[in-house]
Amino acid sequence: MRKQRLAERLAEADRRAAECEERAALATAEAARLREAIEAIPHAVVVCDAAGTVVLRNRRSHAVEGGRYAAALVEQAVEEVVAAGAGIRPVTQTLELHGPPPRILEVTATPMGRRDRSLGTVVLVDDVSELRRLEAVRRDFVANVSHELRTPVGAMGVLAETLADERDPDVMRRLATRITAEAERAGRLIDGLLDLSRIEGGGIRRQQVDVAGVVATAVERVGHLADQLGVTLVTPPAGPGGPTVVGDEHQLVSAVVNLLENAVKYSDAGSAVEVETVAGEGSVDVVVRDRGVGIPTKDLERIFERFYRVDRARSRETGGTGLGLAIVRHVATNHGGEVLVESQEGLGSTFRLRLPAA
Ligand code: ADP
Repeated sequence: MRKQRLAERLAEADRRAAECEERAALATAEAARLREAIEAIPHAVVVCDAAGTVVLRNRRSHAVEGGRYAAALVEQAVEEVVAAGAGIRPVTQTLELHGPPPRILEVTATPMGRRDRSLGTVVLVDDVSELRRLEAVRRDFVANVSHELRTPVGAMGVLAETLADERDPDVMRRLATRITAEAERAGRLIDGLLDLSRIEGGGIRRQQVDVAGVVATAVERVGHLADQLGVTLVTPPAGPGGPTVVGDEHQLVSAVVNLLENAVKYSDAGSAVEVETVAGEGSVDVVVRDRGVGIPTKDLERIFERFYRVDRARSRETGGTGLGLAIVRHVATNHGGEVLVESQEGLGSTFRLRLPAA
């Protein structure tokens, strides 16, 4: 009888031990899963208990870019947000690190559990530098577009007011011509913006494109402007079997047109603009060379920015929008290529649209 009871107790103890082992195994698996989960989060993550002591953190939270000083600042911010929230409410602190590289981090503490039974706090460190940079670019862009459009629209308003009070037919005609010119300017700007946004969208058609054909189409389009300004366009005769690239013919023509228009606009009457196609090793260059006003070295870096002009007055005179080279650069990037420039003030410029050969 006694023996039987002892055996039962032993069996019970064995069962409990097995249960405990199973629970321990489950808890270990759970902890491992949680650890893996926070490692998979693409931010620094720090978990604190209800007393604010760090109990878990992922590798990213140890590897703060920018050296020990930056790491110490982040650590301090984590402590501060945890203390400020005290397991009750979410708290965010923005941290500006001067770098290099300069960065903006958002450190957010979110309480876990209930108000009366806190499970601690989870802190996320999010690098928002790129987001903030893009926001600033967008704000600048909107401000620039508004400013650029206000000029012709303002001019049209003033000219129309003057026209309304004018009785001399000659003056009226002149005023009407100027209103038309300003309207065309606003129209060109809007067309340029639409082109740019389409090209910036990134999606391009990928077809075999004959580069000589692109050049011929572009030369034809710019021919009228060149005639008007007394500039000769020189193209070497293109035979069959020229180099090809893979890409979007429409975009490529648009890029070469922009380069040619600039070469013509920034040249004096009587001079020549040369355009040729040069096949290199693994790449094809469309080279546009002028002997015009040239570009100061200090401006070479910036001429590809939207709305950047070396000489605003000349650009305005020639009907420029400041968007042409931004379009060229985007087309080059969309095709995996680049645009290069060499220039000397007073002597002329050479632009090279370099594209990977098909
Ligand atoms: P824009 O419409 O003003 O020509 P772009 O983006 O095409 O705008 O060019 C930006 C600026 O770069 C121009 O305003 C001009 O100052 C300069 N630039 C571009 N191409 C040439 C060139 N071939 N010769 C001299 N300056 C040029």
